[in-house]
Amino acid sequence: MNQIKIFSPATVANLSCGFDVLGCCLDNVGDEMIISENSLQEVRITSITGQDLPLETDKNVAGVAAKAFLADLGNSQGFDIEIDKKIKAGSGIGSSAASAAGAVFAINKLLGEPLSVSELIPFAMEGERLASGNAHADNVAPALLGGFSLVRSYEPLEVLSLPTPEELRVVVLHPLIEIKTKDSRAILRQSVSLKKAITQWGNLGALVSALYTSNYDLFGRSLQDEIVEPVRSILIPYFDELKKIAAENAALGFGISGSGPSVYAMCRGDENAEKVKSAIKEFYKSKAIDFELHLSGINKEGIKILS
Ligand code: ADP
Repeated sequence: MNQIKIFSPATVANLSCGFDVLGCCLDNVGDEMIISENSLQEVRITSITGQDLPLETDKNVAGVAAKAFLADLGNSQGFDIEIDKKIKAGSGIGSSAASAAGAVFAINKLLGEPLSVSELIPFAMEGERLASGNAHADNVAPALLGGFSLVRSYEPLEVLSLPTPEELRVVVLHPLIEIKTKDSRAILRQSVSLKKAITQWGNLGALVSALYTSNYDLFGRSLQDEIVEPVRSILIPYFDELKKIAAENAALGFGISGSGPSVYAMCRGDENAEKVKSAIKEFYKSKAIDFELHLSGINKEGIKILS
């Protein structure tokens, strides 16, 4: 095998109370990538379709992640990377993570799996460092592992996979305005009051319990964020109205996806998700902002091999 084609999924990170530590993997939104061995001892980005992104290896998260992985292995094999970008860069649903995770996953397969999938996370994080200046794992971990991932610790890195309740569905609205992760991090306050911290870790603990017990009501009650959302939501057009619409249509919870501008609504079952999706669509189409809407299940597998 010297070539592999993969589907590399979009991910929703933070999930309200899990800022920088929690994320989940989507089923039907993602990029396609073809990675092949070359005889040049060089990693090249040979084609990008669907988006205008850098082809220089060191400026593309896929190239950076691939090089970090090969350097660690001490392997001088070269690879060509083709990316068919379906996830818009700067969307807040893990566009950079999909490319970085996809590159290391595919190269690991082509090399006969010298590392386990979870051991690939630190190399994919190097791509995130390039994209946002911060090597966060809450998109690359669920992209690689599927389902829900929790980053217990960054130093040393420890990532846990959490169970996925069967009926969970995610509606994602992507207003087509760009918010760079770097910029939306810059507006965050660097200190948190004890009161807010207590609320946040109470919610995060409860959310983990809700995933283990498929307790949808508890899951919904836990999707709260008193720390980041109040600051970041001002960057997202009609955030408060959207949150209200989601609640009125019985979504379990609503919040910012990653660093925005995408927002997510967690729903129970297809029927509820369709209802939330059409209510959001109805509202947003009267506004002067183009948008994309996705309805997805949770992808428990992560990156998929297509051929
Ligand atoms: P997202 O949350 O959607 O991943 P980010 O702002 O974190 O958005 O990352 C997008 C940034 O990463 C953009 O500046 C983009 O130019 C850069 N980038 C470099 N390579 C890629 C790639 N292969 N896919 C997506 N973004 C990339």
